[in-house]
Amino acid sequence: MATTLSLLTKTRKDFPILGRNVNGKPLAYLDNAATSQKPRQVIEAISAYYENYNANIHRGIHRLSEEATAAYEEAHKKAAGLIGAREGEIIFTKNTTESLNLLAYSIGLTLRPGDEIVLTEAEHHSNLVPWQQVAKITQSQVKFAQVNEKGELDMEHFQSLVTRNTRIVAAAHVTNAFGAINPVKEMAEIAHSEGALMVVDAAQSVPHMPVSASQLGCDFIAFSSHKMLGPTGIGVLYGRKSELEKMHPFLYGGDMIKEVSYEETKFNELPWKFEAGTPNISGAIGFGAAIDYLCKIGLDSVQSHEQALTRHALKRLAEEKDVLVYGPEKRAGIISFNIGNVHPHDAAAILDMEGIAVRAGHHCAMPLMKKMGLQGTVRASFYLYNTKAEIGRLAEALEKVRKVFK
Ligand code: PLP
Repeated sequence: MATTLSLLTKTRKDFPILGRNVNGKPLAYLDNAATSQKPRQVIEAISAYYENYNANIHRGIHRLSEEATAAYEEAHKKAAGLIGAREGEIIFTKNTTESLNLLAYSIGLTLRPGDEIVLTEAEHHSNLVPWQQVAKITQSQVKFAQVNEKGELDMEHFQSLVTRNTRIVAAAHVTNAFGAINPVKEMAEIAHSEGALMVVDAAQSVPHMPVSASQLGCDFIAFSSHKMLGPTGIGVLYGRKSELEKMHPFLYGGDMIKEVSYEETKFNELPWKFEAGTPNISGAIGFGAAIDYLCKIGLDSVQSHEQALTRHALKRLAEEKDVLVYGPEKRAGIISFNIGNVHPHDAAAILDMEGIAVRAGHHCAMPLMKKMGLQGTVRASFYLYNTKAEIGRLAEALEKVRKVFK
């Protein structure tokens, strides 16, 4: 575990919050799929903007505005560099949810009766509800590719659903409830072979592994800064330039225009055509610092660290009596489980007493939980700063949960 140890020594000291106690115990933060913690470098980049060069961007001809504009645009470049996108292909939104809504409103509303949208049964509500609602408005239809009892996609079923009627395929790269990794490259090839667009919800992949837009071969990728060491309130929609150029804006107003008369409006160039109003300037700057931080460590190192932790956790949890782990063998750093008949919320409350932060419930995937016959699960999810010792504490605390509810 040389990589793990070197990563740990490099990173833990950068996260002030990891030094705090919760209920008298050192915090073990295992809720990273919900949101990540922030390193000092990100917090300081945001403070530096407010302390030294806070101004609105693009429209002011003064020093502060020029500095703020340069830093905001640098963040676009950093996000593009992260996934190998081209200039103009990175749109800043509020989060993954807004990125997917942008697509639903812009492309989704062009659908017609008879058109079809193909999703998987394991989507987060953010990649389900917008398409479902758009389908109702346009009288198009949503079809769901099945997943098996481990949460893995049935590719044969998926392929059978994608036809000439399919206009959009949208799927998570990594599913948030069970950590399954979808073969999105292959799915994009199938979508394209029938003339459909491929949308990837990468909220749980871009923060944890190297992702290349060109290698995935998809048309759109959505992700959130707050799940990858950056601040809340800023996210990305990557779009293939040729597709973004065809699309209509989702929000109208200032900054997204080139020329306005009382009768007509000419829209701005990419990406600003999709960034109406004053954007989250400090958020973009903090996000840029988070990308720098992750790139310095290397997302391949982050991924192998999390894989090592996940293997260790699966082995450790298998030793615990009455713990039932869900999800596939090949998975990302997300482990969903239940302990006997204990309600996931009760289990999480006892873990909290031990200073261990996990998530419990339906994980914004209610239809999937219903299909699996589950009221919910406890979910532990890892990031670069987590340790084997924290997993040991989780396993020991589960012993306590079992005893309390025996
Ligand atoms: N998609 C997936 C797979 C997620 O895990 C999440 C958040 O947990 C989202 C979408 C929504 O992300 P956000 O709340 O940042 O918009």
